[in-house]
This record gives sequence, structure tokens and C-alpha cells, in this order.
Amino acid sequence: MADVITHDLVIFGAGLAGLRAAIEASRVSRGKIDIAIVSKNHLMRAHSVAAEGGTSACMRPEDGDSVELHAWDTIKGSDFLADQDAVELFVRTIPREIVQLDHWGIPWSRREDGRIAQRPFGGHSYPRAVLAQDKTGFFEMQTLYDTLLQYKSVRHYNEHFVTSILVENESFCGVTALNMSTGAFEVIRAKSMIIASGGAGTLFGFTTYSQTVTGDGMALAYRAGLPLEDMEFLQFHPTGLVPSGILMTEACRGEGGHLINSRGERFMHKYAPEKLELAPRDVISRSEMTEIEEGRGFTGPNGLDYIHLDLRHLGADRINAQLPLIREICIDYNDIDPINDPIPCRPVAHYSMGGIETDIHGATRIKGVWAAGEAGCVSVHGANRLGANSTAECLVWGGITGAQAAAYCSEIPAPAPVPEDRVEAEKKRIFDDLLARRGSENLYEIRRELRTCMDVSVGVFRNGSDLNEGLEKIKSLRKRYADINIGDPSTVYNTNLYHALETGNLLDLAEVLVTGALQRTESRGAHARRDYPERNDAEWLKHTLAFFSEEGPRLEYKPVTMTTWHPVERKY
Ligand SMILES: Cc1cc2nc3c(=O)[nH]c(=O)nc-3n(C[C@H](O)[C@H](O)[C@H](O)COP(=O)(O)OP(=O)(O)OC[C@H]3O[C@@H](n4cnc5c(N)ncnc54)[C@H](O)[C@@H]3O)c2cc1C
Repeated sequence: MADVITHDLVIFGAGLAGLRAAIEASRVSRGKIDIAIVSKNHLMRAHSVAAEGGTSACMRPEDGDSVELHAWDTIKGSDFLADQDAVELFVRTIPREIVQLDHWGIPWSRREDGRIAQRPFGGHSYPRAVLAQDKTGFFEMQTLYDTLLQYKSVRHYNEHFVTSILVENESFCGVTALNMSTGAFEVIRAKSMIIASGGAGTLFGFTTYSQTVTGDGMALAYRAGLPLEDMEFLQFHPTGLVPSGILMTEACRGEGGHLINSRGERFMHKYAPEKLELAPRDVISRSEMTEIEEGRGFTGPNGLDYIHLDLRHLGADRINAQLPLIREICIDYNDIDPINDPIPCRPVAHYSMGGIETDIHGATRIKGVWAAGEAGCVSVHGANRLGANSTAECLVWGGITGAQAAAYCSEIPAPAPVPEDRVEAEKKRIFDDLLARRGSENLYEIRRELRTCMDVSVGVFRNGSDLNEGLEKIKSLRKRYADINIGDPSTVYNTNLYHALETGNLLDLAEVLVTGALQRTESRGAHARRDYPERNDAEWLKHTLAFFSEEGPRLEYKPVTMTTWHPVERKY
């Protein structure tokens, strides 16, 4: 059998959501809950450290902002697919989280009068993004990490790769994990779990996400019987640096940057006359692709045609003060200086609006299991997330799920017994099947083809025939995946093995995403179908739920929770 380690609570993922959850569970239990926090890389290497532009919160009700306005912006931005009760909880809670981080020592950027600074962000009708220069995620992670260190009841399992979630008789029992530095196969047994394993951005080739963001937690939850919600909604951010895909934060436009086509025109006048470059991301991404497709883009490498993001008029002082990371990236990667040169950009895969279905408190359908952050879908973002609302969501539901899981742990006497046959089956899957696989297919070729297929078939604009072709391609890749060659037989730091596990997860998620997109015969938020260009509230104002089956995803639908706001035409 495997080595068994026992804790009260296992937190699967150590990004913003996972760290915030660990602090809250420790805090409400006064350090009495024994917590494991597991991550496949080192703690400060979660993708959250890459968050740049800001975290949205209503901090100035006296100056014209309000939580109701934040809620309305979020719901309109979501193309009315967000659950409105969750949005209300979100906008009411996040201001407290900002102040809490301030008390924990985060160096928020400040106004001249010493108050916390905020900058404009797309789709928000008030300058609402709280920031720490253009390194917001880095400072948030560092502050949470420093705060967490005071709790001795939290054990960090860095470089532990979770491979499955153990559920028996609908009860959570623990997770299986590979200790990457020793090669040991371990069971982390616990009373409860918070899945905070992040998004699935590397489903696409041209992406802002770090290579570690492979949707593992979503795929493992799906295989353990939990439904994935609204996975067809994948956000394209309007400004990915060409050709690397590195994010040029929305703060570039929040600070006043312009989008310019090859004729030198500021084209957003045509598409969003009021909000211009600060319209939501789905609107701007479609506008850019229209400019490029109609011949008003610049020719880029490998078909990556682009438009220009122009910051030159902001001046050196403002760029150096507010966007130092952006300048550094442009100089290092493209040998251009935004003070003097426009930046080549195009829409880039950026964020999974969908994820593991949860209720308003982040609880899943398996008792004792919660999901928070990008891995979960409490449905605050619906069909399109507003910028700066994701780090905010991680903080809010990290806090909520941490408190809930701690309370649950104190009620439950002991973790469920380890289901030994399942553990044996998982061990066999990894060591006897995957690790020993010596087929004729190249794993990395399959991974590359999957990403190209997603770029081509499920992009900013979609249509039925491309989606059908994409689905066929994914199915054929899955067959080829069964015949890969891992090559390296070692168990210590075997990157081929981890990449194979990740690619298996991505294949599952790709199938769910494309199946959902094919079925949804309307255009809503980030899901824009040329063959069904209109939003269709009569038939499609509902969430997609995808359940695992051996034959492929089985879809069900559930209603959107509406409280106060009625759908209207989205104009910006
Ligand atoms: C470049 C960039 C800039 C962004 N800027 C902003 C911004 O300014 N504002 C904003 O609101 N949002 C922004 N976002 C989005 C936001 O940063 C993310 O949605 C958010 O940080 C996700 O946090 P998380 O805690 O859910 O997951 P992550 O931070 O992705 O953490 C996931 C954790 O899960 C672990 N994990 C995953 N799989 C496994 C496994 N199999 N075994 C063990 N551990 C595993 C990882 O090791 C990691 O610790 C940005 C995103 C990117 C990519």
C-alpha cells in the first residue's frame, strides 16, 4: 500500500485561494485544526503571484461607488449568467478582505493623501481596482504566506502532485499524491478538503498562464463524480504580448493606454463608444479579432497577427511608477520600450469562468469537500469575468471555505477509512500502466496538437463545424494518448510522468469545454458563435453541468439564481 499521512483538513493548491483558506481555517479554530497544504510546485510559484493589475472592491462609498454598482457591473459583465446571490455576497465581503490584507502588511499603492489607491478596470463603472503597482498578486501572495507562517498547525507539502481524490460511499476520504522529490506514493487522509488548484489556461497554446496551470483539480473532481459548471466560457484577454502570450495587464488601459489598428485608428470608438478601451474583455477581444480579420491588423509570426497597445502618451514617469513590470517584460522579451514603442498584442486565452460546481459557500456535492478560487464555479463571473474580480473571488471564497471547512472538521470525530482497493487501483494506474507505457506516440506532440486544436476550434469566435472538428480531434488525441511512451522509468522528479498526468487531465477538460460549447447554440459573454450570434435568454439563461461518464461528458442544466437584476442588452 501507500504511505498514509493523516490531517484534519487538506487544502489542494497553494495559490491565493488556498493560502487564504489555510489562514481562515487556522484563525477560526485558533490553530486547533491540523492542516495540510499541498502544491505541485513551491508555494510562492503558484500562478497567483503573476496577477498584475489589481483586486476590485468598493472602498469609496462616499465618493460615488457602491456595492450595488459593483454587483451590477459584475452581473452585466457576466452577460447575466452570474448567480446574483453569490455576487451580492462577493461585493459585500471583498472590501473587508482588502482592509484585512492592509492590516497584515501588504504594501498597497497609495494616493497622495495616504489612502489606498484604486485604478480603472474594464467593465467597472468606478475606478475600483486596488493595486500594488502592477505586481498585485505577488504582494498578495507574499502577505498571505508571511501571515500563514505564524500558524504551526499548517504543514506545507511542496512538490507533491495530487493524482486522485478518494471518495467512498459519497464520503470524502483523502487524496493520493506523488512525492516528487522521493518518488513515494502517498495517501493524505483527511476529514475534509478545499480544492484550490487553479484554472486550466494551458488548454490553449497562446495563453497567459504558467505551464503548471493544467486544470488538475477540476479534472480529478470531475472523475470523482462532481459536475463541472459552465466550462465552455473561457476568457480571452485582449492584450497578450505577441509572440509569447505574456499578459500585458488591463491596467495598461486602466492607466490610459490606447488600442490602435494598422491604419493608426483608435478602433474601440466603433465597438464600445462609451467605454472604449475599458469595455469588458469579451467585447474588446471580439473587436480586435474583427479588425485583424478585416485586414486592419499587423502581420505577426506564425499567424499571430496583432494590433498595437500604445502607452507612449502616458510618459516615462507614469509608466515607470505604475507599470514597471510591463516595461521590464517588453524590454526583456521583445526588445521594445513602451515609453517609445507601441506593444504588439492580440487576444490570448486567460481565464476559466467555469469550474467545479459549488453552492454559495463554496461547498460541492461531496460532503466535506469545498472548492475555491479559479478551480471552483460559485458563479460570480458567469459568461465573462471582469478584470480584478478573480483575485477578489479567491480572497472571498478562500476565507469562506476556510471557515466552513474548519467548522466541519471540529464536528467530525475522525477521517473516513482509507479505501484500500481504490488506492491500489490508483497506484497501479500510475506505476504499472502510465509509467511503464512504451507505445509509439510522443506525449509532447499530443499536448502541442491539443493546444493548437483549442486555439483554432474554440477561439474568440466559434462555430458549429469548427467545434465538431475540434471534438473529433480531441477524441483522436485521446486514443493516441493511450499509446504514449513515457520513456524515463525513474520515479524521482520524472517530469515526463507529471506531464502525462497533466495531459490526461487537459484532454478530459478539453472534451467538456468543447461539448458544452457545441450544445450552447447562442452567443453569451466569452462564448461567441458566428452561427448563433444572438444571446437567447428564453432557452439558454442557464448553467451547463458536465458529469463524467466513460462515453464522454453527460450534460445537464440548472437555472441561474436571479435576485434583483433583470437581463438587458449589453452596451458599453
Ligand atoms: C498573468 C496573469 C495575471 C493576472 N492578473 C490578475 C489581476 O490583476 N487581477 C485579478 O483579479 N486576476 C488576475 N489574474 C487571474 C488570477 O490571478 C487567477 O485566477 C488566480 O490567481 C487563481 O488563483 P488560485 O488560488 O485559484 O490558483 P493558482 O494561483 O493557480 O494556484 C493553484 C495551486 O494549485 C496547485 N496545484 C495544481 N494542480 C496540482 C496538483 N495536481 N497537485 C498538487 N498541487 C496542484 C498549484 O501548485 C498551485 O499551488 C491573472 C492571471 C494571470 C495568468
